[in-house]
Amino acid sequence: MSDTKKGKKLFVKTYGCQMNEYDSDRLFEVMGEIGFSATDDMSKADVIVLNTCHIREKAAEKVYSELGRIKLVRNKRLQEGFDTTIVVAGCVAQAEGREILSRAPVVNIVIGPQSFHRLPDYIFSAEQHKQRIVDTDFPVELKFDHLPERTTKKLTTFLTVQEGCDKFCTFCVVPYTRGGEYSRPVDEIASEARALAKAGTRELTLLGQNVNAYHGADAQGQAASLAQLIEKLADIEGLQRIRYTTSHPNDMTDDLINAHADIPKLMPYLHLPFQSGSNKILKAMNRTHDIDKYIDVIGRMRTARPDIALSTDIIVGFPGETDQDFEETMQLVRTINYAQAYSFTYSARPGTTAANMDGQVPKELASARLQELQALLKEQQFAFNQGVIGQKLPILLEKYGRMDGQLVGRSPYLQLVHVMADKSLLGEIIEVEIVDATRNSLTGQMAGQMGKVDREALV
Ligand code: SF4
Repeated sequence: MSDTKKGKKLFVKTYGCQMNEYDSDRLFEVMGEIGFSATDDMSKADVIVLNTCHIREKAAEKVYSELGRIKLVRNKRLQEGFDTTIVVAGCVAQAEGREILSRAPVVNIVIGPQSFHRLPDYIFSAEQHKQRIVDTDFPVELKFDHLPERTTKKLTTFLTVQEGCDKFCTFCVVPYTRGGEYSRPVDEIASEARALAKAGTRELTLLGQNVNAYHGADAQGQAASLAQLIEKLADIEGLQRIRYTTSHPNDMTDDLINAHADIPKLMPYLHLPFQSGSNKILKAMNRTHDIDKYIDVIGRMRTARPDIALSTDIIVGFPGETDQDFEETMQLVRTINYAQAYSFTYSARPGTTAANMDGQVPKELASARLQELQALLKEQQFAFNQGVIGQKLPILLEKYGRMDGQLVGRSPYLQLVHVMADKSLLGEIIEVEIVDATRNSLTGQMAGQMGKVDREALV
């Protein structure tokens, strides 16, 4: 099969979360094995993949309208004598399944997030036997078993260590689109991380829908915690920074909290969604934690790592939310004080329990509450950034800036930092004195290039 594919081009459009970004990277690697190379130009692609996300409102409708545009591209290519195979992958594929083939005759293959390692075979069947294929099974362990060695060359990248969720929050589609919780074995993750570090990765973000529920098998077949996994990955040469996302308050164990104090490569940043500051709403959301538990976790984390930067997810206008419930959300934000946050108005996802709940909050009221909340979050983000002015921070330089001679990097707290520095420093961690801060980014001056030993002392 590989000979017939030499010189063929693959275009992937990725929607949504970091896990989809990771999946798309792996998709390029899988297809690279059979001779495909990447293109940014859809009209040059022999295979077009939409790697979809089901989290946002009207996600499926957006995919169908994109498929309308793709049909025009495919027809034009046909007139020029080229065939195009069209694939819908990811969570919309999982949720809609066969329906996509009926509503969009242009689509050849529908493939769920757990099956994309099979894409080369399906493309062969679609091209040679003119078959239309749907695969939305949940054989999650097989996917990782069949993926090739990592070849992605990125200074900062993602590594999925855990997929799926058993928690069934009443607003969320993840348990239906990604299946039950599955943790990859420690050695498999370590070998992927080593390959990435060898290819140049300096900062790795470990991904999972419930990453801190990680319980993959170690070499002895015992369940390892996320903290134990991080400890092992921290030994990898070349890898300088480790992060993880997304966590659930119920799975913030003592060993993970202590890891933030004990493992220098683990960055002082925690994204810990609380969703609502009202215990009544948390119960309706089936979050299985309450506000006292959340405040307690944050308190223990701040004791272990006083400078930790905190981030969260908040849903406003969940069914049944009163003014008082919303005020409790505002109060919790004031109590915790976030470095950044993601906040949304509730919108119903078909198939979830909350979609049929009584007490749906009018859109205008939810939007007004969101505005009030975001004004507070913006103030806190600005204050957090202002708080590092005058500090010298280790910055990992990741890319070129818009200005000549400017590089852009990240602080340990995930802040974007602009600095004038020689381009040869790309990929290095340098010490930068922060001289200015807006809500979205920092400006710094180079305080010196640091050797490896200094670097490790600083992170
Ligand atoms: S814990 Fe997260 S992924 Fe799981 S159901 Fe709740 S919101 Fe969705």
